[in-house]
Amino acid sequence: MIKTTADKTTIVAILGDMFERRGAESYLGENVSMAEHMLQGATLAERDGASNELIAAALLHDIGHFSGEFGTYSPDDTHDRHHDATGGDILKPFFPAQVSECVRLHVAAKRYLCAKDERYFGKLSSASVHTLSLQGGPMSDQEVLAFELLAYHKDAVQVRKWDDEGKVASMKTKSFSNYADLLQGLVNSHTS
Ligand code: FE
Repeated sequence: MIKTTADKTTIVAILGDMFERRGAESYLGENVSMAEHMLQGATLAERDGASNELIAAALLHDIGHFSGEFGTYSPDDTHDRHHDATGGDILKPFFPAQVSECVRLHVAAKRYLCAKDERYFGKLSSASVHTLSLQGGPMSDQEVLAFELLAYHKDAVQVRKWDDEGKVASMKTKSFSNYADLLQGLVNSHTS
């Protein structure tokens, strides 16, 4: 498992290898592959002048789908596979908390936005509406208050918006390798 074999000198290559081997899988019944979707998230974050931490979070937000621990999402799923928590756990030892927590909270951020913004729900893709129901639906008032107390919750909401936007067939993006130095810089800052 990645948690026991990766270290700060290998984690970026291991993530790149996951993109390489698994990235062509389709993304949750959308018109883009997993790799295209995550690279689009990073592209949109860069477009908006985001910090390196948030670009990395957008790039890696769905890495939990590749973990193998819970298998890969299928549109026929009748239960949630918790790729958000898995992704956060994978990244936590190596990346600043801002990165791993945005990944951990990106599904909660969808449930939060659904509770806070009626128009948001209307903009979700049908696959995302399906997973919302598996993920617990919109947050209750109590859950909203608890979410707003979490560190990085605003960043997670921002990452979520790039996630929702990054489902466009044939958007031009960089490749994973173009982000390797940015990612390594974050790993070095966190682990040194
Ligand atoms: Fe996503």
